[in-house]
Amino acid sequence: MPSIPSNKPYRVGRSRTGLGLFATKPIKKGTKIIRYFGPLLDSKKKEEDAIENKYLFELNDRWTIDGSVRKNIARYINHSCRPNAESDVKPRKRKVFIRAIKDIEPGEEINYDYGTDYFKAYLKPIGCKCAACEKKRKKKRAEAREERARLKAKAERKALKQAEKLAKADAKLKDKLKAEAERKSKKKLKLNGHSPNGMLLNGSSLNGNSRVRASGKKLAARKQPVSAPAPTLQA
Ligand SMILES: [Zn+2]
Repeated sequence: MPSIPSNKPYRVGRSRTGLGLFATKPIKKGTKIIRYFGPLLDSKKKEEDAIENKYLFELNDRWTIDGSVRKNIARYINHSCRPNAESDVKPRKRKVFIRAIKDIEPGEEINYDYGTDYFKAYLKPIGCKCAACEKKRKKKRAEAREERARLKAKAERKALKQAEKLAKADAKLKDKLKAEAERKSKKKLKLNGHSPNGMLLNGSSLNGNSRVRASGKKLAARKQPVSAPAPTLQA
């Protein structure tokens, strides 16, 4: 890690995305924190215009700072969508300063917004990892989890209600069948025990039935001699 004079209010340290710049002393809102510097690239020179890296800071149509040099400590400052600092560009002086836009406490990471072009080119494709975006993602995940739990509980309540309904219907049916069976057996008892002369019920009383069958047999027995072959006269 680069050595930074101890009178400076920042140090390079580990951040969520690798290295970052952190406050070591309170930094008042509006204070210049550090200069973002490096060789100036002239877009009119072909070989300079062809240089491509993540640390290019465009000042205007013509001039760009190549901040990829090691001495440029400001290149450690990470992007944030809700930063505590900003890049203060002085195109005529061809200088850029990082300035606090909030009071920054010791230990806090220093961030500034890299701008729309950088965001679209480098951050959007991989998903911005700044604290604000992580917080947003975390909240969304928590909300999704809550929604899933809510739907699951709802489905379980519904299933339980359905099961209770089925059990109730089942019990009702059993009661009905039981009552019917009891009624039938009581009726049978009445017919067998107390009904005189075996009264016909729908033409099929137990006693009546056997009587009909018995008389039918008698009838058949009486008829038999009639249907027997008569002695032939012409023998
Ligand atoms: Zn972000």
